[in-house]
Amino acid sequence: MKLNPLQNDRAAGVLVALAAGDALGAGYEFGAPLPDGAEVTMKGGGPFGFAPAEWTDDTSMAIPIAQALLESASDAGSSSPAALTMVVRVWTSWAAEAKDVGAQTSSVIAAARRLASAAGRRKVHAADFTAAASDFHARTGRSAGNGSLMRTAPLALAYLDRDPSELLAAASVMSALTHADPDAQEACGLWCVAIRKAVLTGALDVRAGLPLLSAERASVWRERIVTAERSRPSDFARNGWVVEAFQGAWSAIHFAGLSASGPAHLRAALEEAVRGGRDTDTVAAIAGGLLGAAYGYTAVPFEWRQRLHGWPGMRARDLMVLGMELGRGEGRRPASWPRADRHDYSMWGRTDVLVRHPHDGGVWLGGVGSLERVAELGIDAVVSLCRLGALDVPGLAPEDHATFWVVDSAVEGDNAHTAFVLRGAAAAVERYRSEGKSVLLHCVRAESRTPTVAALYGATVAGISPLAALSDLQVVLPGARPNELFMQVLRETAASNDPVVGGATHAAAE
Ligand SMILES: [Mg+2]
Repeated sequence: MKLNPLQNDRAAGVLVALAAGDALGAGYEFGAPLPDGAEVTMKGGGPFGFAPAEWTDDTSMAIPIAQALLESASDAGSSSPAALTMVVRVWTSWAAEAKDVGAQTSSVIAAARRLASAAGRRKVHAADFTAAASDFHARTGRSAGNGSLMRTAPLALAYLDRDPSELLAAASVMSALTHADPDAQEACGLWCVAIRKAVLTGALDVRAGLPLLSAERASVWRERIVTAERSRPSDFARNGWVVEAFQGAWSAIHFAGLSASGPAHLRAALEEAVRGGRDTDTVAAIAGGLLGAAYGYTAVPFEWRQRLHGWPGMRARDLMVLGMELGRGEGRRPASWPRADRHDYSMWGRTDVLVRHPHDGGVWLGGVGSLERVAELGIDAVVSLCRLGALDVPGLAPEDHATFWVVDSAVEGDNAHTAFVLRGAAAAVERYRSEGKSVLLHCVRAESRTPTVAALYGATVAGISPLAALSDLQVVLPGARPNELFMQVLRETAASNDPVVGGATHAAAE
């Protein structure tokens, strides 16, 4: 469907924030709860030995769902049997090599493979999974692990333009591939309906799907939600169970929302989820799917996006592309941003401007044309403020290229979290400089976005007001004229005593 810029941002944020929560929790999995204020970082390690900023099974199982739904975007039914079979085949090959496959999922995959081979097939079908999961539930009576809820978020993106009741039904089917218990199916349905509403409206409403359940089940879940809102994530010690994982994730979002909003809420809630202990990566991944839907890709701190990676060899940018294309519902669009290798700026003039920052000679300020000179000038890191293709910045490690979504527009609704994004970009420049790297900061023509971020950075370096920094910048960039919205950010920063850059990603200023 046609999404407005803010909905687009929110669709793009679902998988990125899910993965960020997952990678944030990976190093703390199965640990005891942490005290309030304890630092939480993407340190990696944990029982499965993940690399720093590497995501785990939660994201790795969500990606095949997103990819299969994207493949079948033109079909009448997004979660058709063919799409589901595509999903379970990727899960099966992933599980053969994965570091961490949940116990119930692992058992169902093995049983589904036996069913396929008993039927003389080398490859599994979705029906093998559904049968194996249903058998698992019948035998054990306990199949409500959190393994279907942790991966379910992308499904919501395929149902933005359909009735939420269809989404609820599809989420049940997707859950039942491995988790047949009604609690698991309903949890997936409720969480997906909340994600759909968050992408469309920006609202965080975990109750949005309750009217779609029977009165009896709605009342059970309403009670569970109320309990979550009176609790902290650490109160849900059995968060390997889907119900307590759901409650842990919602309590993290609800509790953090009492004292934070916007991007600061996203960050605080994911940290709160991890401090809850035990199945930290999964509770934070579940929370991340919904928070990303509500606040968007632009709300995920750069320091989290920078090194985020995982199976199957993807990074934050790939997850952003998947989420956005899924939300648009037009399948893969290899010739369009953001999937295209190159973004065409040939119609623009004066993109070759390139000057040194007046307050720090290690920072270059330029137009998009200056990207061609990165190798020649020996530039170590690039901070981009305009749309680029995947191959527009060759020769740099991915973590040395920071991208920020900001449109040169003062029109309300064109940009999300403008101050947070501009300050985050200035913080990225400072981060690279603290690592001793030379930096190119650029947009298309260095007239509005680049001088704004350069003024925020220059204010910190020179210890002056951002407005004074802008005046200095206008000497070397005579065309520098930040739009009125960006000028407002500079004025607000000048009026506050907050450090401009240091801590900007924490302060969020929303
Ligand atoms: Mg995990």
